[in-house]
Amino acid sequence: MKCKTCGQKATVNLRQHRLGLCTDHFLEWMLTQTARFIKKYRMFGPDEKVLVAVSGGKDSLSLWDILTRLGYQADGLYLGLGIGDEQNPYSAESHRLAQQFADQRGLKLQVVDIRETHGQTIPQLAESVHRGQGRPCSVCGVAKRHEMNRIARDLGYDVLATGHNLDDEAAVLFGNTLGWQADLLPRQAPVLAGHDGLARKVKPLCRFYEKDMAAYAILRGIEYIYEECPFSVGSTSIYYKELLNRLESDRPGAKLAFYVKFLEARSVGLFAAQQAEVSQPLFTCPTCGQPTAHEGQCSFCRMVLR
Ligand code: SF4
Ligand SMILES: [Zn+2]
Ligand SMILES: [Zn+2]
Repeated sequence: MKCKTCGQKATVNLRQHRLGLCTDHFLEWMLTQTARFIKKYRMFGPDEKVLVAVSGGKDSLSLWDILTRLGYQADGLYLGLGIGDEQNPYSAESHRLAQQFADQRGLKLQVVDIRETHGQTIPQLAESVHRGQGRPCSVCGVAKRHEMNRIARDLGYDVLATGHNLDDEAAVLFGNTLGWQADLLPRQAPVLAGHDGLARKVKPLCRFYEKDMAAYAILRGIEYIYEECPFSVGSTSIYYKELLNRLESDRPGAKLAFYVKFLEARSVGLFAAQQAEVSQPLFTCPTCGQPTAHEGQCSFCRMVLR
């Protein structure tokens, strides 16, 4: 296969677009496409301050790399979740790689350690909430959303960017569609507007396949953590990703079409009624001052108190 731009041997085959590209033109294509999506979905402007949530993985570090190469003012935020042990020091290693990425490029990395700030690691918090039952992912999700919003707001960032790729988004959409989750479907979008103390959230990589993000990181020489979080093993979202990949291998482009056609339906108002219900008034948590959907303490503060 040849590069569509220069005719040299292609190193990356983007089957979903029937497009082969050499290394240089693939790296360039990733930049121009990201810039296009930022503009198309009105994510942020050139003068806005972006906080990139970095986990030490390929997606978030590549996102940070792309945004700085595009000339945006982008700092990183690393949340120390306290996951792992001596044999698999997941959090320690992901922190090391995120810090190394920042140091090598002279970028600013904000670091928040959940245990230092709130007294317990994510597995410890989950233990007290679930009493040893199930995964800590719901607790982790609440903590991450809370801390990301807190830092973005307190440190004056205009927008919070996460490295969710198309495989992540398609798996969430697939799960929500299987259960016809009318309340969750309209909340899935490349941009969630900020309001009442909630930071604007954007997903600039939402139209790139996971395998293409891995190719980008490797071709750019980005050192990232290969291991997934140990709690992700056997999760439903990984199962949905596998199912969608089977579909994709028979019908290249099916995964992209599933997500993009959902966004199109959303933009012409297919979920307008549900969207109106979702925009409920927000209350303020008396403990941390952050917005919450219910009166009284937010879920994070209730969890930490427990
Ligand atoms: S897989 Fe790990 S990082 Fe992801 S939500 Fe679960 S505990 Fe948190
Ligand atoms: Zn080329
Ligand atoms: Zn609170």
